[in-house]
Amino acid sequence: MASSTKEISVILKNLGVEASNPGAAIGTKWLPTRGQKITSFSPADGKAIAEVTLADEDAYEKVIKAAKEAYKTWRLKPAPQRGEIVRQIGEELRKHKDDLGALVSYEMGKSLQEGLGEVQEMIDICDFAVGLSRQLYGLTMHSERPAHRMYEQWHPIGIVGIISAFNFPVAVWAWNAAIAWVCGDVCVWKPSEKVPLSAIGCQKIVQGIFDKNGVHPGVCNLIIGDATIGKKMADDKRMPLISATGSTRMGKSVGEAVGRRLGKTILELGGNNAIIITENADLNVAIPGAVFGAVGTAGQRCTSTRRLIIHESLFEEVKQRLVKAYGQLRIGNPLDQNNHVGPLIDKDAVQMFEDALGKVVAEGGTEIIKGEVLSGEGYESGCYVKPAIFEVKNEFEMVQHETFAPILYLIKYSTLDEAIEMQNAVPQGLSSAIMTTNMRESELFLSHAGSDCGIANVNIGTSGAEIGGAFGGEKETGGGRESGSDAWKAYMRRQTNTINYSTELPLAQGIKFEF
Ligand code: NAD
Repeated sequence: MASSTKEISVILKNLGVEASNPGAAIGTKWLPTRGQKITSFSPADGKAIAEVTLADEDAYEKVIKAAKEAYKTWRLKPAPQRGEIVRQIGEELRKHKDDLGALVSYEMGKSLQEGLGEVQEMIDICDFAVGLSRQLYGLTMHSERPAHRMYEQWHPIGIVGIISAFNFPVAVWAWNAAIAWVCGDVCVWKPSEKVPLSAIGCQKIVQGIFDKNGVHPGVCNLIIGDATIGKKMADDKRMPLISATGSTRMGKSVGEAVGRRLGKTILELGGNNAIIITENADLNVAIPGAVFGAVGTAGQRCTSTRRLIIHESLFEEVKQRLVKAYGQLRIGNPLDQNNHVGPLIDKDAVQMFEDALGKVVAEGGTEIIKGEVLSGEGYESGCYVKPAIFEVKNEFEMVQHETFAPILYLIKYSTLDEAIEMQNAVPQGLSSAIMTTNMRESELFLSHAGSDCGIANVNIGTSGAEIGGAFGGEKETGGGRESGSDAWKAYMRRQTNTINYSTELPLAQGIKFEF
């Protein structure tokens, strides 16, 4: 049983996912692939869902050639017409929201609400991109030379390679693809090999729309493989932009490879997000924000709350309220909407969780809630864990690292300057938050002397961003921005144009060149 209402077999059928699937597609054309055959297992119940044969060299080459060909005509289509096609994609996603959301939940292990939320994000970014297709504005400047006009315009860039992580199996692709398409680019998507079926579901939903509109199918391509394919993309000069989401380790490798060929990257990497709870916090806001941030998606969001930096006057109270809240958490099948915490993605992740617990204890962390692997009825997949809480020091080695699991670190502070310094004293810089009802505290946190992260919230937790803002982080989080605001500029190349409509040739900076 996948959800309370539908069998997984019905969901797969509705989405066109077969028992055995090829791992590469050019629009509606699915290519025979000869790579390794992998099985996607659900971490919810440990059952095999379906098989995928990973892409091989031959399929990779065919996909890139098709994408190159498609780009020649797609870039010439007026942007609002490209937007109209993205609008139709949004409509198609609306029709398939329930099935795709349930598949994401079953394959990745996030709650059904979050699976549906991910598809909603895809719909939202399509809507955003439709409007954007009429707003790819460049500036006009005043030339210093008489009878000259100067302006800038934005052109498409070419093939965008999208490498995505397991924890957002579908939304991150849409964030990139919807924007890239209206910008006039074509996309090659390499999803995480841990969630290939959700990617196949997406391709099946959107593939027909390009055909229906008479567009070359190579605008929308899927290539399923492991890091080997990701590395190939990073080295491939035919892809001027690689947008890669995943661990900092992966980002360093992709950044180096793309940098070597002077290509462009959007890197969306690991976080180590903190909430500062000040003495002026409203704990009725702070506690739910902290708990959702720490245990939502079983701590497997890039924006998950890893650290709580708490004013000493409230430390005991916050600790007790957290212990009470954690005691009420229901851990179990993510498709059962009564549960708060689902499984980790696989047994390797469970092993990492256990290793981390041991290391924090070894460093001197004080266990407040003991994390453990759960077994017994409902936990047969071996991927369920009980979320842990420790009291620690910010400088502990493990606290400086992102462990992709529900482990929450409590840290005590006495002055806000000290709290902000601790919040920033980690290698990553994705999301941050302050819980306070005091305007001076929140403004300091948001000032140049405040949070150094790409996202800084007040009285909201660290996770759960909206698509309208630019999403991403600083330092080891990679510096990339995706989604809303002017993130679209990374998917285009800027051209400055100067036009002389005079009868002379004046030179800039007053330089004379006469003969
Ligand atoms: P991962 O780095 O193991 O894999 C991510 C993707 O990169 C996969 O598709 C994988 O096949 C590919 N890959 C791995 N090594 C590669 C290499 N050397 N070259 C090219 N491709 C390579 O990450 P994961 O376990 O799937 O996801 C969890 C990580 O992703 C966490 O660190 C999380 O914080 C991060 N994440 C960040 C964001 C963000 O927006 N900042 C969003 C989601 C996830």
